[in-house]
Amino acid sequence: MKRRKFVAATAAVATAAAGPPDEKPAIDGGTPVRSTPLRAGYWGTQFYDEKERAELLDVLDAQSPFRWYGAKTPAKVLQFEKEFAARMQTKFALGVTSGTAALQCALAALNIGPGDEVILPAWTWHSCFNAIILAGALPVCVEIDESFNIDPAAIERHLTPQTKAIMAVHLQGNPCDMTRILAIAKKHGVRVLEDCAQSVGASYQGRPVGSFGDIGIYSLQLNKTITAGEGGAVVTNDPVLFERAARFHDLGGFRAPHQQWAGAARVDWYFGTNFRMNEFSGGVLLAQLRKLDRIIGAAQANARAVYDGIGDLPGVKFRSRPDPQGELGTGVFIDFATKARCDRFLAAMKAENVAASKPGGSVVLPTLPHIMAKATHPNWPSFQSARGRSIQYGPGSCPHTLDILQRFGGVLIDPKFTRQDVGDIVKAIRKVYPAV
Ligand SMILES: *Cc1c(COP(=O)(O)O)cnc(C)c1O
Repeated sequence: MKRRKFVAATAAVATAAAGPPDEKPAIDGGTPVRSTPLRAGYWGTQFYDEKERAELLDVLDAQSPFRWYGAKTPAKVLQFEKEFAARMQTKFALGVTSGTAALQCALAALNIGPGDEVILPAWTWHSCFNAIILAGALPVCVEIDESFNIDPAAIERHLTPQTKAIMAVHLQGNPCDMTRILAIAKKHGVRVLEDCAQSVGASYQGRPVGSFGDIGIYSLQLNKTITAGEGGAVVTNDPVLFERAARFHDLGGFRAPHQQWAGAARVDWYFGTNFRMNEFSGGVLLAQLRKLDRIIGAAQANARAVYDGIGDLPGVKFRSRPDPQGELGTGVFIDFATKARCDRFLAAMKAENVAASKPGGSVVLPTLPHIMAKATHPNWPSFQSARGRSIQYGPGSCPHTLDILQRFGGVLIDPKFTRQDVGDIVKAIRKVYPAV
């Protein structure tokens, strides 16, 4: 037998031998499913090609890196905003420098400030809490449920007459139960801000997340679905909210192209900052946006193959999903009932050379020392109200959240995983599952 054929034949046998679920796990001395580690990468940058390159060169050749004027008439950020609004099925979109900036614009648009309270999930990214603090308002953390998103059943008991908005954060690609959240908001007359930073392009009941609430935000940073390294966007159907967000992001002004889009200027100048997106970012994001459905489609197909490949394991329970069709497929997470079992699963998967982890990409905010200490300027308005003075963060305020996050483990999905990679994930989980 020729050497190459022999190697191929033995490799095929080795692959087949790794198949039976009763094979010894690598952690107990068996052969690992993979000889090299498998780990999900950054989604958007893996799709960079001549499209992003051409957009960048356009801006460079035109010598017009600023969105409002220059040597030629700039168009990239504005074009990105038009196409982003269309994709998200909202009337307006505003490009900004980050998801965090987008949150600040959204809170300013909603006129949230000192004396106001904002509901957010106990498990989310720092930006959510910090944006509320920077607005001078009080962050009120609510426990998550087994979707890893805010628990709709826990929201109402945290509402007060001062509550102005609920931050519905669609975490790790999984849409929130918007039907229930919108019903609560309507009943109590509070606004809904959708944070779609981790779910750019996800949908709920057939409509893109971000289009349900009063206002929505997205991050376009490296770790999110599409990216220019940094970037963010705000969407809304309300021309006044659009104008207020646009003014806040541009030192209080509302420029002609946005005025035309909104039909008129309806709001007076007020204070704002500078969160303007530059044309290089706008160009790259335009190219990325046009690939969004391809990126998501690939990730969703890979996630579905994993769900399908392990769905018959005895007693297997996945993270709850209010709309399985609409999630991005960022990861597949299993409830192991106890931390000890989950930890055994993670160690066994590592030995198989298939990366697995607890839910990530967020932090349990109430357990962070600076949050427990309410570390702000001593006269900062957030904690001056009676409720602000009395509110207690800390692990005791979110036991359910801490419990969920220690007993769920899973694998992160990459849109560029091959069928072999996805097969290896399924094989590794099937192999280690009986032992944990
Ligand atoms: C990443 C993230 C943000 C902030 O986005 P940046 O672009 O990094 O500023 C906000 N909210 C959530 C839930 C995020 O994951």
